[in-house]
Amino acid sequence: MSEETLFTKIINREIPAEILYEDDDCICIKDIVPQAPTHVLLIPRKPMPRLADASAEDEALLGRLMLRAGDIARQLGIDEAFRLVINNGADVGQTVFHLHIHLLAGKKFTEDGLGF
Ligand code: AMP
Repeated sequence: MSEETLFTKIINREIPAEILYEDDDCICIKDIVPQAPTHVLLIPRKPMPRLADASAEDEALLGRLMLRAGDIARQLGIDEAFRLVINNGADVGQTVFHLHIHLLAGKKFTEDGLGF
């Protein structure tokens, strides 16, 4: 068995986090180092290291995550303007190797303004 990821530990309540939403597919938490006034992470329970590791069997799950991102943006009142980011690989800044979607809003993002 491979070691549990940080996000699996959060999902299993072994590490605390501010949980905003969860269902059978995913959990949504506040990012501990927010890069924008709203910065939450949408994390599938299934621990894929990177988006590039997803396969055809993950197609429906990935689709549901996109829909959940829109739902959560609506619930947070930011559905008029938000950004989704997936870092795939350490070279673009991925630090936690358990697929997650950053949902950011509340500031003007310029082309190079994210630091991701
Ligand atoms: P990435 O760099 O795309 O792998 O994103 C990982 C994100 O997880 C970063 O934005 C971190 O700030 C965030 N993060 C790391 N540890 C925690 C934690 N314990 N609770 C919430 N967010 C975290």
